[in-house]
Amino acid sequence: MHTYHSPLDLVRERSPERPVALVRRGAVALAASWFQKHFKGDVLYAVKANPSPWVIKTLAESGITRFDVASIPEIELVAEHAPGAFMAFMHPVKSRRAISSAYFDHGVRTFSFDTHEELAKIVDATGQAKDLNLMVRLAVQAEGSSYPLAGKFGVEPHAAPDLLLAARRATQDLMGVAFHVGSQCMRPTAYQAAMAQASRALVRAGVFADVVDVGGGFPSIYPGMIPPALADYVDSIDRGFAEMMVHETTELWCEPGRALVAESSSVLAKVELRKGDALYLNDGSYGSLFDATHSKWPFPVKLVRGGEPSSAPLKPFRFYGPTCDSIDHMPGPFWLPEDVGEGDFIEIGMLGAYGVAMTTRFNGYGEMDAAEVDDAPMASMYGLAPRSIPVPRTESANVVKLSRAKGKRRRRK
Ligand SMILES: *Cc1c(COP(=O)(O)O)cnc(C)c1O
Repeated sequence: MHTYHSPLDLVRERSPERPVALVRRGAVALAASWFQKHFKGDVLYAVKANPSPWVIKTLAESGITRFDVASIPEIELVAEHAPGAFMAFMHPVKSRRAISSAYFDHGVRTFSFDTHEELAKIVDATGQAKDLNLMVRLAVQAEGSSYPLAGKFGVEPHAAPDLLLAARRATQDLMGVAFHVGSQCMRPTAYQAAMAQASRALVRAGVFADVVDVGGGFPSIYPGMIPPALADYVDSIDRGFAEMMVHETTELWCEPGRALVAESSSVLAKVELRKGDALYLNDGSYGSLFDATHSKWPFPVKLVRGGEPSSAPLKPFRFYGPTCDSIDHMPGPFWLPEDVGEGDFIEIGMLGAYGVAMTTRFNGYGEMDAAEVDDAPMASMYGLAPRSIPVPRTESANVVKLSRAKGKRRRRK
């Protein structure tokens, strides 16, 4: 991968025709060392957040050699780029063939499930293996998360004790509990609350867990979403673990995805046309801007112009992507100099998690290049850049909308 000092140097040297994923390895390395230093347990990277080979390699070089995988292609990817890594197959619903292949071809021993049927499938497909690490996925309350994940997976509290007991009986190796408080969790105490819930289920089942896996959900920074410090999250987990009924050798695991990679990549997109306040870009919701469309996240942006820099005042814009689908629209608002136009480039920040990983080939678009850059990300939880993204005053209408949407989601529970 070619390295440029800054996105501007890249634009001046190459004027790239396709969108470019701008890669900052140092940001992943720093996040990896933060988690290893401050989380008092094992850190598994959730591969789906960004499966780029450079991410897997950088994490392995930085000491994270455990991975949360959800499919055979993810297992093959990790095996190729982090040989010898420990993998946990944490998808609660898997095909029999995927389970067999994970166990027999790739040496995976750790599997999660949320039903008796899936547990039976795992035992069957591994030839009644006795060396399984069996992780029961619990449904937990997802207070304060921007992406609740409990709706699809997790055994409900009333059914959990029975499944925990079955798991305990099915293995001579580790039995654990796992949960996910929801992605981009804005409330550190969600972890402590989920751990209390896990503890109650274990007590009712009358079993001890060998592993407590607190999942992912650790946040990053987006406009209008400035999370508490990550230290508050590990503090909440420490308190939760201290209050749990566990034995001395019980292991603590976490599976961050977003927090390890979000700030490490941005995307450099080109303006193909301007119509009033709408900019038509060569990247969009079928590319790396899924969340800008479907969750209306107003990602931070910067104008990158090869010629004379703009000194025009900022004005709110919206984006359209390159496909012919009218869903391919990002409302923003994205604040850019009011003279932005065709031929300009725009750097869209904080797309390292669930951004560059989401690209499709719909309508003949979606091919991207990648280049390394040396400059800082637009915001950082780890001290590389400010811990907030300024929201222009006139944007307060949008911030109100965001918090109101969250309030509604909570009340519905
Ligand atoms: C997606 C996922 C993660 C990572 O979640 P983040 O919110 O990105 O930290 C961790 N564990 C499981 C089981 C997941 O599905």
